[in-house]
Amino acid sequence: MFWEKDIETMEISELRELQLDRLRTTLIRANATPYYSQLFKKISFDPTEVRTLDDIQEIPFTSKNELREHYPYGFLAVPRDEIVRMHSSSGTTGRPIVVFHTIHDIENWANLVARSMYMAGARRSDVFQNTMGYGLFTGGLGFHYGAEKIGMMVIPSGPGNSQRQIALMREFDTTAVHILPSYALHLLDVFKELSLDPKKDVKLRMVFIGAEPHSEEMRKKIENSYDIDAFNSYGLSEMNGPGVAFECPFKNGLHVWEDSFLFEIIDPQTMKPMPDGEEGEIVFTTLNREGMPFIRYRTRDLAYIYPDPCPCGRTHRRISRIKGRDDDMLIIKGVNMFPMQIETVLMKFPEIGTNYQIILETKEHMDELTVEVEILSSADDMRIYEQLRRHIAEAIRDEVLITPRINLVQHGTIKRVEGKAVRVIDNRDKS
Ligand code: AMP
Ligand code: ZN
Repeated sequence: MFWEKDIETMEISELRELQLDRLRTTLIRANATPYYSQLFKKISFDPTEVRTLDDIQEIPFTSKNELREHYPYGFLAVPRDEIVRMHSSSGTTGRPIVVFHTIHDIENWANLVARSMYMAGARRSDVFQNTMGYGLFTGGLGFHYGAEKIGMMVIPSGPGNSQRQIALMREFDTTAVHILPSYALHLLDVFKELSLDPKKDVKLRMVFIGAEPHSEEMRKKIENSYDIDAFNSYGLSEMNGPGVAFECPFKNGLHVWEDSFLFEIIDPQTMKPMPDGEEGEIVFTTLNREGMPFIRYRTRDLAYIYPDPCPCGRTHRRISRIKGRDDDMLIIKGVNMFPMQIETVLMKFPEIGTNYQIILETKEHMDELTVEVEILSSADDMRIYEQLRRHIAEAIRDEVLITPRINLVQHGTIKRVEGKAVRVIDNRDKS
């Protein structure tokens, strides 16, 4: 059940001591980077004088902006010769950011991913198919190394080519898959086209879903359609990639690996710490990284801490599933909402498929919200559509207080992209 029992179930006080010890090393390393050495000097911060974990509160947050401004080597803590790997965020806006790793960093990352998958129940007897992108994106190589470490047979299928994905699953008896939640749902259509039953015609028993926000309802849909367990996997390139926080078999929040990451939850407006149980932005400090240490890195991802201990016995604290990024928040007619709220409502309607899009336009100077959803089967009677449209609109209005226009489209109409799903199209006048 445990990959590293001593660390995973460490007494809280010992865990905090380990964190403090690693934080001291990290700060001294950070002082070797062009960026932090200047910053520490500016704020008169002496990294050798750190006494408690709270001492980092004196250090200003690091954000994507600083990473961009000091691109590419401003955060490097070792000579470039010691770097063995570079990765990059999938960033949709602006210059992507790059992260560099030493051999030690790659080793620790693989270990964290192995620990995560093992926690969920993956074993060396599993055949693991990795449908995430290999390359600059961290989802491919990150999981690959972790799975090999456990000793699983890895099929590095990469994304796309759905028929081949299914053929591989069938020919090699794949039992575990790493997949985007939106792609897991899309594959169901391909099973159908091939007249195959995902519950019977493949030997899948578990999937790791992550890299994009998804609702509990979407997880259930995946689990029920394939008859498998789906585990939520969270990470970001700046903190290696996958293997930052992961669900255990209790699926009641994601354990953050606190031996490698010190985390805070802050109010993104006031920057003050949020109490346990209250939602805020996750901020990470790396605790076991040589190449590129980050201190108080603002993720923009929103979650809250589950204060109660987990029945699995692990002491590393859990966070809720990620609701989205604070920059995903939509302000429509002055009302704040997250795409996830709309998804949660949509997934409750059995008549509609799993692909959807939120379209925002300006009509007569007003915001207009349209939700486009695919219907699973066609009906002859137009009244059925009319009724469905009304029911969906009412359910969304109850959730977000705005009545959307509902656009029902044929199954397969909404364009799919190979990477993370595009859920929002904002065509509003920006002037
Ligand atoms: P990247 O660095 O390109 O891999 O993107 C990382 C971002 O993807 C995170 O900051 C989150 O916004 C998002 N993300 C990753 N995993 C999850 C997850 N399990 N649930 C929700 N969002 C996720
Ligand atoms: Zn647990």
